[in-house]
Amino acid sequence: MPNMPHRTIHLFRKGLRLHDNPTLLAALESSEVVYPVYILDRKFLMSAMNMGTLRWHFLLQSLEDLQRNLTKLGSCLLVIQGEYESVLRDRVKMWNITQVTLDAEIEPFYKEMERTIQVLGGEMGFDVLSLMGHTLYDIRRILDMNGGTPPLTYKRFLHSLSVLGDPDMPVRNLTAEDFQRCKPPPELCLAEDYRVPLPEDLEIPRESQSPWRGGETEGLQRLEHHLKNQGWIANFTKPRTIPNSLLPSTTGLSPYFSLGCLSVRRFFYRLSNIYAQSKNHSLPPVSLQGQLLWREFFYTVASATPNFTRMAGNPICLQINWYQDAERLYKWRTAQTGFPWIDAIMTQLHQEGWIHHLARHAVACFLTRGDLWISWEEGMKVFEEMLLDADYSINAGNWMWLSASAFFHQYTRIFCPVRFGKRTDPEGQYIRKYLPVLMNFPSKYIYEPWTAPEEAQKQAGCIIGQDYPLPMVNHKEASDRNLQLMKQVREEQYGTAQLTRDDMDDPMEMGLKHELSEENPKKGKRARNREQT
Ligand code: FAD
Repeated sequence: MPNMPHRTIHLFRKGLRLHDNPTLLAALESSEVVYPVYILDRKFLMSAMNMGTLRWHFLLQSLEDLQRNLTKLGSCLLVIQGEYESVLRDRVKMWNITQVTLDAEIEPFYKEMERTIQVLGGEMGFDVLSLMGHTLYDIRRILDMNGGTPPLTYKRFLHSLSVLGDPDMPVRNLTAEDFQRCKPPPELCLAEDYRVPLPEDLEIPRESQSPWRGGETEGLQRLEHHLKNQGWIANFTKPRTIPNSLLPSTTGLSPYFSLGCLSVRRFFYRLSNIYAQSKNHSLPPVSLQGQLLWREFFYTVASATPNFTRMAGNPICLQINWYQDAERLYKWRTAQTGFPWIDAIMTQLHQEGWIHHLARHAVACFLTRGDLWISWEEGMKVFEEMLLDADYSINAGNWMWLSASAFFHQYTRIFCPVRFGKRTDPEGQYIRKYLPVLMNFPSKYIYEPWTAPEEAQKQAGCIIGQDYPLPMVNHKEASDRNLQLMKQVREEQYGTAQLTRDDMDDPMEMGLKHELSEENPKKGKRARNREQT
């Protein structure tokens, strides 16, 4: 404890939680008063993060939850609308602030914000303390360990981590005692000006159909619910989870990690405890800890790769002459491709803001190298707007992966928009749920309703080409042509392709090879590759 305790603003950006919050803990330990502040800078949130309606709801719910939890501990959350620099300038003056604490983040727009705050600190005479809380490791340590550059394959990344050892343990939970000494003045906590706005205050449509409710409390409940199922946790094998189950077949925790309502370190160590008690458990890349390490991998690469969310100027990304086709992009975005599997996924995305990892594979491959040959950047922007878990590093990293622009190199594997979903949901229950217009189609035709005889279409009450679109492309022709284009690009840019090449390659294929080969025992490897999942 320094001699002169600080007067601190703790600035929440992500990290909307009270458990495992090292920066807030440091603020409380060094201050006579801590003002917990969230600056709702709409212009910044819209331009830097392209927030869609569902994500706005999730954010506001998370802020309300944080407000409730802080109040229980005798403090409160002060939400201030406005441009962050001028808000901060005002409050620093008004409250005689000597320190601003905030979580360190890796996104360029958050780094820029931190730089601005540092400059402001120099000018106005306050200290800035920022600590990493959003990732398992301080990403800078991984980069240092690797000579200042990011390991560009998961295997090399795991090697770097094996030298670093386990991540730091989560810090202790905050208690009422921690806040006792440094509560903000009660009149501020009661002031109408500082409350969490309602969706209508921000002109956001009131209703959200998403089954995900934002906030630390809900995130912790979901986490505990999963952790009770120790066998499931220990045996979790990502490629065996089902993309078209009616309830998520994976944890569904990503929206909570994304806003920092949940600590990844808490999850990591709870998993370690379960693994320690299990005779056998799955391993990275397919285990649950392996999933957290994928997250960490993309954060590490993104933090040190220029133009990570763009193709141009991005040194690890193949430079591809994608088609610019606004009409086709629109059809994909609005679930009108005419392929029910693709359209059902895009509908779930619009309605709920979350889709399974393999469902993301299906629609991303379809948009890019599979069928439409449209840039991954376009798809990434749509996901950024629609996903509750939208994340700068993970979104761009996976879009580069799926479009075989970086990280993934078995580009001859193209997902078939008909067969992919059929494998795990032959009756098409998922399609019936999200595309009720196809509800009454016989299972035989549900993945390719355009092949149903006219009579069957009439009986199902849905005429293809009238009530539901015809397929927008001939998948076989489009994917054959795109495969040739991709082959050519990769030959021309062999050096770039090699940068992120890993002999482990696609983890979603691991553990499935055996099943695939049994499915088509007579087919050769090449034929099976083209056979498509
Ligand atoms: P689980 O399987 O339960 O995994 C637990 C956690 O591990 C996840 O919550 C997530 O934080 C992390 N994780 C899992 N898979 C990955 C992965 N492939 N890469 C990095 N981290 C992973 N995930 C996001 O969080 N935000 C995004 O913006 C995002 N965009 C994606 C875009 C595309 C094209 C694809 C193919 C995947 C994307 N993912 C993204 C990764 C992945 O699909 C989701 O993290 C996962 O489906 C979330 O569901 P879950 O929490 O049930 O995952």
